[in-house]
Amino acid sequence: MSNVTSDRVQQERTVERIITGQAVSDGAGVKINRVLTQNLQRRLDPFLMLDNFGSDQASDYLAGFPSHPHRGFETVTYMLEGRMRHRDSSGNEGLLTNGGVQWMTTGRGVIHSEMPEQEEGMMSGFQLWLNLPAKDKMRDPWYRDFNGDEVPVFSTENGARVKVIAGSSHGVDGAVQREVTEPIYIDVDLPAGASFSQALPEGHNAFIFAYRGAVRVGDKDVASGKMAILANTAGADGVNVHATDASRFILVAGKPLNEPIAQYGPFVMNTQAEVFAAVEDFRAGKLGEESVI
Ligand code: MN
Repeated sequence: MSNVTSDRVQQERTVERIITGQAVSDGAGVKINRVLTQNLQRRLDPFLMLDNFGSDQASDYLAGFPSHPHRGFETVTYMLEGRMRHRDSSGNEGLLTNGGVQWMTTGRGVIHSEMPEQEEGMMSGFQLWLNLPAKDKMRDPWYRDFNGDEVPVFSTENGARVKVIAGSSHGVDGAVQREVTEPIYIDVDLPAGASFSQALPEGHNAFIFAYRGAVRVGDKDVASGKMAILANTAGADGVNVHATDASRFILVAGKPLNEPIAQYGPFVMNTQAEVFAAVEDFRAGKLGEESVI
């Protein structure tokens, strides 16, 4: 790409805290490393959850995520390896493959299934939950699949290869842009010894998750499988990440909503009453036709 500019960072953010994920089981028993858990929703507002799934054991993922509902937020699924079939109650269907991204705005409600379409080999990727502002929680659902080659990619002079899923990096706009929360979501492949800088708005909450090799931010090491919450240092304009080994990491940032968060499983609203209404609507069949999935 010709329009790559460099993100110069004058004052860098530091690491506030290193987080070790929790091993959880979700869907029909899929084994997951849950990196962003409910107790971090306030600190990492507008993000509600980050799951890292990754296994070469079919028994860990084969049962998938059969029919289940959502209301009130967005799900962003980024597939690194493997194939996952998606169907929803709005009639959407898509096959998510290597490097592909599925962005779904659940709005007032969808019922969907996310099922592996392979019986052996490695399946890995991420699912990130991005909250919607109160005014958008009951909007119409929206959905889009991006194949791996539809996600913008650029390389830097020192060999970083960067996929821009959302927001922008080094002047390159990502696949998805969102008002209100202005999310930035990039996947960086960094050779050993190289560094990468990303500009970040001062008020954004931000974290990185290393999933291959290890990286260093300031004087803190971030090992593979760990999340580093970046400090909201006053006056900081970005972050510098150094690859200790050949590394891959995702960097996620967004503008906090500062609204109340009420969650019951797959429903995330602002009040308990709204959550009860979501459960009632689901039971009454108002979130969609399950028979089409
Ligand atoms: Mn789901």
